[in-house]
Amino acid sequence: MPNWQTLLATGLASLCLNAPAFGADAPLYDDAPLHYIGSVEFKPDAGAMGAGWTVIVKEPDLDTIDFALNSAFGTAIVSGPGVQALTTRLDPQFDGAVRLYSIDLTPSMNGSDRVVKFAYGGPLFPEELTLPINTLNANKIELTVDSFWFPFDARFETDLTADLNIRIDGDWSAVGVGAVYRTPRGYRFAQDAPALDIAFSLLSNSVKVMADGYVIHDARTEPGAKMTELSAALEGCTTYLNALSGPAGPLPQASVIVTDRPEGGYSRGTLIALTDIENEDEEGLHQFICHELAHYWSKANAGGPENWINEGIADYLANMAIRDAMGTDVFDARMARYSEQLSGEALPPIWSPDLTERPPYLIMYRAAPMVLQALEQRMGEVAFATFMQRVMIDRVRTTPDLLALVEALSSAETRDWFEAQLAE
Ligand SMILES: [Zn+2]
Repeated sequence: MPNWQTLLATGLASLCLNAPAFGADAPLYDDAPLHYIGSVEFKPDAGAMGAGWTVIVKEPDLDTIDFALNSAFGTAIVSGPGVQALTTRLDPQFDGAVRLYSIDLTPSMNGSDRVVKFAYGGPLFPEELTLPINTLNANKIELTVDSFWFPFDARFETDLTADLNIRIDGDWSAVGVGAVYRTPRGYRFAQDAPALDIAFSLLSNSVKVMADGYVIHDARTEPGAKMTELSAALEGCTTYLNALSGPAGPLPQASVIVTDRPEGGYSRGTLIALTDIENEDEEGLHQFICHELAHYWSKANAGGPENWINEGIADYLANMAIRDAMGTDVFDARMARYSEQLSGEALPPIWSPDLTERPPYLIMYRAAPMVLQALEQRMGEVAFATFMQRVMIDRVRTTPDLLALVEALSSAETRDWFEAQLAE
């Protein structure tokens, strides 16, 4: 077993110093409340890692911040000029698997950033793994927030950007959300767009399919099945969404990982991890891929009532792409199934000004696309396509803004009608 305290004391310090400086192609990080600069060393054979993070807190009004980190690492060393006081305890919410670090922040001087540092290491999964996604072994390193492998803001809703420098031996296929660089000792991921999670994968053995708008990494034990259909769906979705979005596009290059696992598909921006697709059909693949890619334009608050916009728009854009690729009959049959799934269900309205909760599944993924279809029928396909393009250009976040757009592109009467549909 490596001595992680020594690694922390020496190795990580040198890792930080040896990190290659960005050249002319230095990524520009969009503004997010948190920026993470990380040096992480992976020991895949031992299922272990060592990490040093500098977290830049860019909210000047914040007095305290709680970070959640996997308790398998023991207690992390927390330091930095932004830390005025620290208390730490196991989080009862996660059955002791997560340790909370409550930090009183040094007051911000004239709006300046606060800096908090974490250092820790050890085996990430000392006990048998029950999470479907998170893996740290010689075949694959795939980590998401579910494993709390990095100190995660316990508000669970704070956007972050990240510059992650990874030290690892050997050749891997590196898949990330933003730019990925090969470095002398490993890989560097620059996640420049604000997101909730730091998402990347390292695959030791995968079959790569590269095209203009996307790369597929087939990481299955027996690769190949349904790859033609998957490529067709990616081709169809990127072409359709790029054309429809006009000046709001094009999509950044998508990275798709195909895995063997039966569940645990997810997407983080244009990084999409698929469960085994062997049993998927053309329509299902189109829906999933187009829906996930369409989230590139989603900017409504995902934790509240406005999330109906994120999911409803993404889902209906995917259905429009299906109509384009597979024809009206397939599209109509799909919308008819939505209608069946809703019949007899007692559901709240899609949106009304007094709602405070995130809508239930059937509202976001079934009722919302149906109300958009009704709007399309009322406006006509051409005017509706213009409306959807404006939604993508403006990255509409709230229902009042969406209603204003309906009025601007149609009429006050259509706006009132649509608002009434949402409140039904
Ligand atoms: Zn979605």
